[in-house]
Amino acid sequence: MNEAEIREMEKEVLATIWTSNEAYETLRELCDDIGHRFGGSESEKQGAEFLKAKMEEYGLDNVRIEEFPMATWERGAAKLTLLEPVEREFSCISLPYCPAADLTGELLDVGDGEEDDFERLGDQVKGKIVISKAETNRPGERGSHRTDKYRWAEERGALAYIYVNQNPGLLHITGSLRGRNQQGTTAEDREAPIPAIGVSKESGSMIMRMMERGTAKVHIELDNKTVMSTSRNVVGEITGSEHPDEVILMGGHFDGHDISQGAGDDGAGTITGLEAGRALAQLKGKLKRTVRIICFGSEELGLLGAWHHADETDPDSYRFVMNLDGAGRGQGGQERVVLSGWPELSKWLEDWSEEHHYDFIIQDQLNSHSDHFPFAVRGIPNGTLNSMDATAGMIGRGYGHTEADTFDKIHPRGLQMSAALVARLAIAMSQADDFPAQRRSVEDTRAQMEEAGLLARLEASGQIPG
Ligand SMILES: [Zn+2]
Repeated sequence: MNEAEIREMEKEVLATIWTSNEAYETLRELCDDIGHRFGGSESEKQGAEFLKAKMEEYGLDNVRIEEFPMATWERGAAKLTLLEPVEREFSCISLPYCPAADLTGELLDVGDGEEDDFERLGDQVKGKIVISKAETNRPGERGSHRTDKYRWAEERGALAYIYVNQNPGLLHITGSLRGRNQQGTTAEDREAPIPAIGVSKESGSMIMRMMERGTAKVHIELDNKTVMSTSRNVVGEITGSEHPDEVILMGGHFDGHDISQGAGDDGAGTITGLEAGRALAQLKGKLKRTVRIICFGSEELGLLGAWHHADETDPDSYRFVMNLDGAGRGQGGQERVVLSGWPELSKWLEDWSEEHHYDFIIQDQLNSHSDHFPFAVRGIPNGTLNSMDATAGMIGRGYGHTEADTFDKIHPRGLQMSAALVARLAIAMSQADDFPAQRRSVEDTRAQMEEAGLLARLEASGQIPG
């Protein structure tokens, strides 16, 4: 395939994307009519059917819904009362998989909730209700994940965890908890061993001020349930004309948190993939390798859809997996690809960026917290394409995982620009006969995770077998 032919293909997909408002309107329907799409809920099921109908309308091949059993979670009432040094009630929410609870305990400030904070506090953690920011990401920095902090607290015998949102606006922070048995799949395995709740930055700050006055005691009353259900992925393809068994997989997760519309996390990423699929469907018969568009279910509950799809498909069939968690946000023009430990692909992407006159950020940093990861542990070349949420002053997840992750934060141009980049990269990956990355062996993959300082943590958290 020569360069000129590739340029013609790009013109076609760019014209499709730039002359239409389809992506924006589809996301609006997903957010306003279908709603949160929480993993295993009726809303997620409706979302799957809606996305499947869209894929059929766009003319994708082999459109299907992949169902899988899983444990979902039902939110009940939550009450947080400060008993000492003064009596006050604070608004709070339970985090997904939080068990029902009725307990009283003394509060302990664990600072940033990093591992050395827990080491330093040692025995003091036992029997306490610990409190820290959910994720202490300062600009340009990445602190530990909520679930790691939770594990450090639980291991040291904490009674419960209170997570404080790091952005202002009276917004509660949410995010799922790890189950008491990560290897298991039943509702009992998946329910979290100790309760955890989310509070706003403002409530958290006031609680911290109260703690300075003396010993602080709180009462927590929560009513939740973890129950078995079904979740689903939605899949459609543009079948490759020369190598149909070689697959470029791309997509975001369409499930969201039950307190919001899941517009930026990750409705926009899902729709970015779908829009790229709509444009690429115009190239049927011209793409050498198969491009598979996937909308992952239940990412927020432990990457469940991605684990399922990785389990059910041949790891040798993949040329590349592009996760779109966080794509399509912002005003456009702030896209970045974060490779998961593939230096040979950094160079390939840099060359592509230069030759195709489109700038985006290219990083290489292995992490385990989104849908690329079940493919990464199998040694499959992968990365995540996302775009910065340009909302002024927000840090970390921004409005993500709060009530304010709603459609009004998404811009049509942000969706178009992400979809255009995804579609163009898909063309390049599908047509290249000299793609530089190949699947790694299990040993090489483990060695790489060890080097990235992830192996011990992943084994401990049950994310990969020890
Ligand atoms: Zn996400």
